[in-house]
Amino acid sequence: MLKPNAVKKRVTEITPQFLRDIGADALLLDVDNTLSTHHGTELLEGLPQWIDGMKAAGVPLLLLSNSKEKRVKPFAKKIGLPYISLGLKPLPNGFFKAAKRLKIKKRRLALAGDQIFTDVLGAKLAGVKVILLEPIQPETKWSFKVRRLLEKGLRKKYKTCRKVLK
Ligand SMILES: [Mg+2]
Repeated sequence: MLKPNAVKKRVTEITPQFLRDIGADALLLDVDNTLSTHHGTELLEGLPQWIDGMKAAGVPLLLLSNSKEKRVKPFAKKIGLPYISLGLKPLPNGFFKAAKRLKIKKRRLALAGDQIFTDVLGAKLAGVKVILLEPIQPETKWSFKVRRLLEKGLRKKYKTCRKVLK
């Protein structure tokens, strides 16, 4: 339940071919520490070009964030993508909503995110594929530090699962 289908460092390493290889037709994107720093407005290096490439290849993208609308909306606007805010990951509801919005079956969807206990667990519970990324920047809040500490051992274990795990 906590094991991702694949592990990558940055979202920009994901290609349309890679998504096809893991059996996904569309990609859901976490925002904080996946596309920018936590609550930051600066974009990950190469992000606009990567989004253009995905769009050109016909891969639908949708932001699925646990953050509030007032954080996600302006960010989504900035990069020109649709969004779902207050996603409540790891609950599966946001994933169901995303599948409905994209009109794509859950098992043909993948999420890219940086947290095991929200992104990976949520995707697994919803029957969505998941690519675990490294957080762009370590968070400073103590609650995050605890979570990251818990993730540490698991990340080490999953480091090698770069291929599809069925
Ligand atoms: Mg995140």
